[in-house]
Amino acid sequence: MTPAPDWGPVVSALSGVQRVALACHEKPDGDAVGSLVACSLVLRRFGAETYPSWSAVSVEAAAPYSWLPGKDHLVQVADMPADAPVFVALDCGAGKRLGELEDVARAAPCLINIDHHPGNDNFGDINIVCPTASSTAELVASLAAALGVELDRDIATCLYVGLVTDTGRFQYTNSSADTLRLAASLLEKGVAAPAIAQELFESAPFGFLKLVGRLLERATLFEEERFVYSYLLRSDLEQTGVTPQETDGLIDSIRATRAADVAALFKEQVDGSFRVSLRSKGPSVGAIARSYGGGGHELAAGFTVPEVEAAVEEIRALLRRAIAQGPPGL
Ligand code: 5GP
Ligand code: MN
Repeated sequence: MTPAPDWGPVVSALSGVQRVALACHEKPDGDAVGSLVACSLVLRRFGAETYPSWSAVSVEAAAPYSWLPGKDHLVQVADMPADAPVFVALDCGAGKRLGELEDVARAAPCLINIDHHPGNDNFGDINIVCPTASSTAELVASLAAALGVELDRDIATCLYVGLVTDTGRFQYTNSSADTLRLAASLLEKGVAAPAIAQELFESAPFGFLKLVGRLLERATLFEEERFVYSYLLRSDLEQTGVTPQETDGLIDSIRATRAADVAALFKEQVDGSFRVSLRSKGPSVGAIARSYGGGGHELAAGFTVPEVEAAVEEIRALLRRAIAQGPPGL
């Protein structure tokens, strides 16, 4: 069993507090939204008013998270209280992941940083950074226990969403025996795992299939570097009717080949830049992401670049260097 983090300072900071602002990272994934809403539900049970949000023009739980219990708690950035005594940041590997909420967070009398990314820059006044945790949801479950808040079905459902998405349906190396024990305890609270799986993984619009087709058709393999990449343009989304949130799991389609150890998916953003998702079966891609000002885990990381070709060449060069150096890099 991994020891629970020392929640003492967090429990003290939250005790008796009337209003708590919360935020996860911008462009939230399942763990970010799930742990944010779960934490909001937990803190309301603990007696606080909560204001959960993230940096976005319009904050809403879009598909495939639009059914999440507690999504009604979400508030727009403009409605975030500037004077809440405590601000809780969730699933943010760095302060800048809070986007336009970073200033509000840093101005709060007490900023609590709850996260599981290695290399977190400890931007909080209190930092609960636990890289051995599968997900931030796992940490929120531990926080609830420390606060004496019993998990109900709604909280358990939000936590399960964080767990099942960040562990790739319990298949990645971050899915420990503790993770599975927590998942089991969430099922005992009434979590409808098969229905959630359908919502998350089998509810995309028909155009999603066409989008996957484009992505796979464009996949390019560099055999020497054991590197595969593909890309998606804004026009692909427009033409297939798929939303950016619905592209979250698409990197998994191109990592499926045994010909590659490292997979990259480039997604064009509104401003013309590309968000890159990197996944690895061995070489550290966290270091590559950090070298671009991004971050993440050793086997799953992300960053942003102005264009695809130059980044592909640079990643290939970094991988060739890692291969030349041999283990433990590879
Ligand atoms: P994804 O490829 O799913 O967007 O991200 C993979 C992992 O890397 C996630 O844990 C995510 O939080 C992290 N990540 C993605 N982009 C960034 C970034 O720009 N900065 C940091 N620090 N982490 C990132
Ligand atoms: Mn996470």
